[in-house]
Amino acid sequence: MARNTNPKCKICRRAGEKLFLKGERCDSSKCAMVKKNYPPGLHGPKGRGRVSGYGERLREKQKAKNIYGVLERQFQNYFKKASGLGGNVADNMSQLLELRLDNIVYRANFAPSRAEARQLVNHGHFKVNGKRADIASMELKLNDEITVAKKSAGNKYFEELKKTLGKADSAAWIDVNKDQISVNVKALPEAKDQKEQIQMNLIIEYYSR
Ligand code: SF4
Repeated sequence: MARNTNPKCKICRRAGEKLFLKGERCDSSKCAMVKKNYPPGLHGPKGRGRVSGYGERLREKQKAKNIYGVLERQFQNYFKKASGLGGNVADNMSQLLELRLDNIVYRANFAPSRAEARQLVNHGHFKVNGKRADIASMELKLNDEITVAKKSAGNKYFEELKKTLGKADSAAWIDVNKDQISVNVKALPEAKDQKEQIQMNLIIEYYSR
């Protein structure tokens, strides 16, 4: 499946904030936003110019797409689906993004970044409700359960993961079994559960123009 292959740290520098796209590196002094907190380009720091209302909405949309690793067409489809669900479109949009399989694997701390979660999913390491699930965008439902595929359970990555999972806090709307490396969707995520600072209303305005 297609994905954004632009260098991740440049995406953060263009956005002007940390989007946490690289796992552990993002919390270290090696983070490009610590070393080069200015937009990428050949001519060094130029500062950030004033942004119009449209620019602000566009930037927020790009930011959310990059955080969740979703390309434009698919992101537009989330907006269309969120609009058709009734209720608050911004909240629906947050919920749809949070319910992606790769996002839940990330929220459960089974991978240090969404990109790595997506790779684990694509390589067929997980099952959903006992069935092979290797599509990162798969939308989970209430009470769905993600488990590690039998063939992957003994591999080094998951053995190491068991040792570190104990310390990690996961999202409140999922129930993580740290010994089995499984996760259950015990509640539907609400907008307040979205840890990243995304102004979803600006994104809805962008697409509603
Ligand atoms: Fe962004 Fe992480 Fe790179 Fe820092 S290390 S610039 S937060 S992707």
